[in-house]
Amino acid sequence: MEKKQFKAESQRLMDLMINSIYTHKEIFLREIISNASDAIDKLAYRALTDEKVGMNREDFKIVITPDKDARTLTVSDNGIGMTQEEMETNLGTIAKSGSLQFKKDTEDADDAELDIIGQFGVGFYSAFMVADKVTVISKAYGSDSAFKWESEGVEGYTIEPWEKESVGTDVIMHIKEDGDEEEYSDYIRPYAISQLVKKYSDYIRYPIRMEMEHSVEKPKPADAGDDYQPEYEMVKEWETVNSMVPIWQRPKSQVKAEEYNDFYKSKFSDWQDPVLTIPVNAEGNFEYRAILYVPSRAKKGLQLYSSGVMIMDKCPDLIPDYFSFVQGVVDTPDVSLNISREMLQHDRQLKVIANNIEKKVKGELVKLMKDDREKYVQFYNSFGMQFKYSLLNAYGQNRDAIRDLLLFWSSKEDKMTSLAEYVDRMPASQEKIYYVCADTVENAAKMPQAERVLKAGYEVLYLTVDEDELVLQMLENAGGKPFISVASEDALPVTDAEKNAAEQAEKDHKEMLDFVQETLKDEVSKVRVSTILQSGSVCLTAEGPVSLEMEKYFLKMRGDFPMKAQRVLELNPDSGAFKALCRAFEDGDKDKAAVYAEVLYNQALIIADLPLPDPARYAELVCGLME
Ligand code: ADP
Repeated sequence: MEKKQFKAESQRLMDLMINSIYTHKEIFLREIISNASDAIDKLAYRALTDEKVGMNREDFKIVITPDKDARTLTVSDNGIGMTQEEMETNLGTIAKSGSLQFKKDTEDADDAELDIIGQFGVGFYSAFMVADKVTVISKAYGSDSAFKWESEGVEGYTIEPWEKESVGTDVIMHIKEDGDEEEYSDYIRPYAISQLVKKYSDYIRYPIRMEMEHSVEKPKPADAGDDYQPEYEMVKEWETVNSMVPIWQRPKSQVKAEEYNDFYKSKFSDWQDPVLTIPVNAEGNFEYRAILYVPSRAKKGLQLYSSGVMIMDKCPDLIPDYFSFVQGVVDTPDVSLNISREMLQHDRQLKVIANNIEKKVKGELVKLMKDDREKYVQFYNSFGMQFKYSLLNAYGQNRDAIRDLLLFWSSKEDKMTSLAEYVDRMPASQEKIYYVCADTVENAAKMPQAERVLKAGYEVLYLTVDEDELVLQMLENAGGKPFISVASEDALPVTDAEKNAAEQAEKDHKEMLDFVQETLKDEVSKVRVSTILQSGSVCLTAEGPVSLEMEKYFLKMRGDFPMKAQRVLELNPDSGAFKALCRAFEDGDKDKAAVYAEVLYNQALIIADLPLPDPARYAELVCGLME
């Protein structure tokens, strides 16, 4: 019979697997059982819609048979089976077998715990870690003929017609002889195997059946005398070794941390334990169970292939953090097959590739933004925050990459605009990029602080996300133009006339302003006649490095942020409220003036979307004014 060769690249991988230094060889059983379970899933699903299958859920099972004499371990399933072609494609090419990644080069062999093989579902080939020959006999559903696939490793494999009555697959592993370091015989001992099943495959939803041996007491003979000693015999009995209860259905107290970790690693293809495991068992109106894991690292990355052979399932070094939503495959002949993770990180070729990929993705996104804004906005709504967060996380170091990808609401366009577009529209005389923070676009347009800049005809960016102002700070500028809040005194050049008028008003009302300041001394650091208000009566601005928006943001993020914005209460001298305040003060009605001051301050807080110190008191004050 002709022996077929594994694909060339696969041989090297196979070799690595066979001579694996991987210390957890026992996981092969989990992999083989998981394949059996998948195969049953497929047939069970088919059975739902196709009566011809003639199977019910309870008919499905996985049978494990250790044979001490033949030194084999057989895992049988009555799942969907494989045709000859499927055996060729699924078992003939290593690269096909799940996500094959691999161990460090042998020069670092002492670092055996760096179990690259364990980083993912290693799949069918893990059988070669414990077996020197693997035989697969399978009959596919809907087929009359069965086939036998057999391989002793790198040499290749054979496929020939075979006899098998029922549909399904038998994987027969010819277990290696015991070596100095590894006792392979465990894999033909029923008890040891049943323990492995419990450890790794307990939650598999089909019964995993094994014939177990127990010693039981023989029945006491009727004529047994007083000195009868009970006798024992070994009895074989078929047992279901897995509990079939998913790990999340089991009481928390009965699940070991290690079991949660093993489940996470096999289910989510990670090789590191999660940093946090959160089992949830919610009862009451809504009932649900969950296990939530916080991985020890973000799992961004692209699949890395070398000439068709997968080297790494998620290679994080291929894509920058702010593009971590990008999925894909990179294949390069320039990366050596047995390169380790550490080496990859420093691989020059890979760095060049990563740089190119970053440019490529960015270029295409910018193009999309230009050519199909609707689609870009759709994308941006999903991933825009990611750009912002990575900008904040990197303290703006990646600003030049991210700046072109951001969108903000524009007062002029009445839709989202890019910063480049804003800068393009700026009249020659405009030196700064204006923004105003508010909770919604509608409210932004109504902010009293924004009025004069809008009236002067300038475009204003409406920042509606808490992080936005910090984002602009991190960006520093766009097209060389700095950002400035409309609430800043320097937002617009103040004419001499305006300045004089404000100074005059400050002078004229100095006592009253001092009084208001004194009344609100715990809340505001300054009260002044505003040069930025137009028709609005009152607003809050901030002096110093912390803006109101930042205070709000940090308050939300941390709850206890000690930095407070230095609040400035801005009063519009032309407003009726200001005049009423003056009158009360000049009439010597200080109580009334104090109430007005407090009401105005609270109104400024409301406009700024900041919490009122005492909402009930504020309501009473306003009601009192109506009497
Ligand atoms: P993975 O399961 O990650 O795809 P494997 O190497 O474990 O990779 O298996 C390769 C493929 O071989 C499977 O996807 C499946 O199509 C096929 N296969 C393996 N075991 C069985 C089985 N017991 N029954 C049917 N098909 C199987």
